[in-house]
Amino acid sequence: MWGKTMGVSSHKEEAFNNGIDEINVTRALISSVLFSVAIPFIVLMSHLFKVFDLFAWVTLLTSVLAELFQMACVLMLYLLLKNKQMDRYKTAYVMYYGTTIAAIMCAASMDMNYHGSEVLYIAACAYFIFVPIFDEKIRTFFIVGQTILMVSLILVLNLKLRYLFDITIVQLGTVFVSKYQYNLTKRIEETSKNLKRKTLYSEQDALTGLTNRRGLKKKAELIWSYCQRKKVPVGIIALDIDFFKKYNDKFGHLEGDKCLKVIADTLKESAKRSSDIVTRTGGEEFLVFVQDITPKEILSLALRIRTNIEKQSIIHAYCGISKYVTVSMGISTTIPKFNYEFNDLYDEADRALYQAKKNGRNCVVFDGNLYGRIKDGMPQIIGME
Ligand code: GH3
Ligand code: MG
Ligand code: MG
Repeated sequence: MWGKTMGVSSHKEEAFNNGIDEINVTRALISSVLFSVAIPFIVLMSHLFKVFDLFAWVTLLTSVLAELFQMACVLMLYLLLKNKQMDRYKTAYVMYYGTTIAAIMCAASMDMNYHGSEVLYIAACAYFIFVPIFDEKIRTFFIVGQTILMVSLILVLNLKLRYLFDITIVQLGTVFVSKYQYNLTKRIEETSKNLKRKTLYSEQDALTGLTNRRGLKKKAELIWSYCQRKKVPVGIIALDIDFFKKYNDKFGHLEGDKCLKVIADTLKESAKRSSDIVTRTGGEEFLVFVQDITPKEILSLALRIRTNIEKQSIIHAYCGISKYVTVSMGISTTIPKFNYEFNDLYDEADRALYQAKKNGRNCVVFDGNLYGRIKDGMPQIIGME
């Protein structure tokens, strides 16, 4: 349910080289949409008002082909943006880019030839500046290619030499401005990436990599209101390592840290649903927040956590309860109501955890019952003090 929004598809994002690709492809998509709207518009205008000389069937056919090409480009760019798979689509994108630049350049030379106007040529340079190609080498290749193509067209079409002068100036300008624009986009993207990374780190526990209290608060706020509206049952397992101070005192803080990491990993492996939120709430205390779960399911999750921690067989410093590290757990569940907040549910789980500690540790307290040792695969309900 929450997996899609909360989950991080990091490998996909990495494949998208860096964010700058995304910005460029978005711009390319917008320009392609504009082109595909502009082409039929120009044809229609020329037909209705005879503004442009587009009656010849060759021009009409070219327009239809250009329109089909642009529509295919819109689809390709959309898929590229959606799937974030630059590697797969890179050749297609470079071809799209080259064809678009070449097409505008040809149109620009026609514009110069028939109307003595350089508007389309300037538009092609603006396209080059605002939809830059990703790779520096390919960028240089295109700007050189664009210059050669334009000069050749002027010579072939026998246009005025004044255009050669204009083109030299504009091409030089394009080289510098496009480089500046490219660097600017790169800087903006780097800044926003750093900001995102900082926000992520501020919501993550540095030692275990789990969500921290701040992250939990943010996620819980979102989830809670959703579950309130949809009446989805939610639950919390509050968990605390037993006699951890003794562990630290005997083995040292570094070993203590290692133990915390093992417990954190075990929790992550036990609470596997993409919607499960495993948090280190402080010191040797953890919390698992689950949604869309029945009381039976949350209890079996807690017992699974306990069994999995037992399986790690981490030798404890104190053998009062077990020779291995154990945990105590308190569970609370509810269907969120409007006068009942996440913190209220957390307090309930905390009170249950306190009961578990009070009743000998290494056990689970849920709904006034204490689940102790597991006998024949079944948790035994034991009376509480
Ligand atoms: P109880 O069974 O009642 O929970 O006993 P306890 O010893 O686990 O609880 P107490 O609150 O007395 O001690 C918690 C200990 O957790 C104190 C501290 O040494 C240790 N601790 C807290 N944060 C960290 C940490 O980041 N790293 C390490 N290594 N130890 C930590
Ligand atoms: Mg504690
Ligand atoms: Mg403890």
